Amino acid sequence: MKSIQFTKITLFIEIVHALKVQIADSHTLVDGYPLECLHQRFRNLFKEIFGWEDNMMDVIWTLFRTVVWDYEGPVEDHQLGALLTRYRLKYDIDNGPIPVYITSFYCRGCYTRYYHNYYVHQNSTLQTYYGGIPDVIQSSRKIFVQASLCERFATQMVMAWTSATNCGRIYNAEFDNLCSTIALPFGWKFALKLDTDIVSDAFYLYSLLLDHSRQAQVLSPPHHAPNNTERLQNALEQRNERMVGPGQPEWNHACDVCTKISVSEDGSLVVMDGVTLGHPCCAIHDCVNPLPTNRHMCCLHDGVEIEQSVQQCDLKTDGTTKKPKARFGCRCTHNEEVCVTSCGMALGQVTFFGAEGLNGVQIFWKQLFPIQHSLPNVMWYDNNCGMQAMLRADNDEYFNDCALPVDVFHFKSKLKEQDVFCSMFCNPYILKDLVDEKEQGDFNSSAAEQTNAWLGGFHAILRDMHVERYNFFLDEMIMRHNQTLRRQLEEQGLSPYNIPRSELLE
Ligand SMILES: [Zn+2]
Ligand SMILES: [Zn+2]
Ligand SMILES: [Zn+2]
Repeated sequence: MKSIQFTKITLFIEIVHALKVQIADSHTLVDGYPLECLHQRFRNLFKEIFGWEDNMMDVIWTLFRTVVWDYEGPVEDHQLGALLTRYRLKYDIDNGPIPVYITSFYCRGCYTRYYHNYYVHQNSTLQTYYGGIPDVIQSSRKIFVQASLCERFATQMVMAWTSATNCGRIYNAEFDNLCSTIALPFGWKFALKLDTDIVSDAFYLYSLLLDHSRQAQVLSPPHHAPNNTERLQNALEQRNERMVGPGQPEWNHACDVCTKISVSEDGSLVVMDGVTLGHPCCAIHDCVNPLPTNRHMCCLHDGVEIEQSVQQCDLKTDGTTKKPKARFGCRCTHNEEVCVTSCGMALGQVTFFGAEGLNGVQIFWKQLFPIQHSLPNVMWYDNNCGMQAMLRADNDEYFNDCALPVDVFHFKSKLKEQDVFCSMFCNPYILKDLVDEKEQGDFNSSAAEQTNAWLGGFHAILRDMHVERYNFFLDEMIMRHNQTLRRQLEEQGLSPYNIPRSELLE
């Protein structure tokens, strides 16, 4: 027998002590001690931790099982104690749903209970996460989801507009056969199916952890909250606020497709960049039909919170029940505006809950480009005619150095010759000194249209979301879309880079 480090033995004793309940569960006790043959799943565990093979394990267990069983727990100078072990459910990316034991520790030195993902101080009302991305994320009290599975959900959402419900269905279908063969512990009462709420909770928590990790911050939501939606609400709102205006990481993007650099006659460099501002449209590419009006339930109306009121089931006179009718406190339309570069990068989005006109749009533009010299050279927008007229009526000079043309096709085909205002101010041919017609086509490109169409694909998913989740979700999808696009541009040798923010914002 090889020699064993003393520290390994003491750690072994501590672990067995912590797992005493579970070991007793799966062993016959004779004279109060577990039998000599340790159950295979604990053998696997100790093999993982200490690298002990079966014969080694047999020797150690035989030697120490009674010692370990009589061990009273940590002695005085050890601070960690008050273990709490609970049955929980873990959704594993490779092995499906697995019943697990989760143990938390209370430290008598710092009056803090340490959970799997976070700690809670005795006098604190907050859960303070440990920072970084844990391997397994506790998405609700009883549910743990592997981080790599959360990443897969996010990828399914961004690549294929998969709803949380369908992410769950795909996972359930994958592990359906396996689930029926899992030997569940005695008294097990959780359903094994992955449902919409679990996927949603896991996705938002995981995305928040990623965000905090990027910002080198630590997430600390309230420990006591009636539900997960409320627990995460503040953190979601804070991220949403940060994303308003130039908050997207790729906001300062430039590349060979969307930024043209040429040398002018006097030898100075002329930088030409343009963006398209538009509405996400139907997900089917080249579809010109506008989307049917979106009816969106939102509880924010004139700043007054109106609760959704649902009529209760009423007993009919014949004893049967009527179907409950849902009635909503307010219903407003919503529409997104998104700013996209010609290479397809989405610089920012805003959603108007309610009928915002051109004025809302120009406020969005000023938020997105908060300093005049952060404005692109050209901003294509299908209602630039109306925008120009409004800006002139307001004597608003903010966009004076920025061309606001309608696209060439639109100008040629849709505008009446006699529209003098348009031919003076929106005429794309005025831009001719800057770009030729082909290049105008480049700026108002199919890549930008594709991004718009891709965003349009989320209408069905977004429809029922509450406003803070709605904005968070859209920002998150845009961020992931941009990351993927950036990698593609790199692969194609189109030199994507980020203009230093200080150059644009100071
Ligand atoms: Zn402590
Ligand atoms: Zn670009
Ligand atoms: Zn016009």
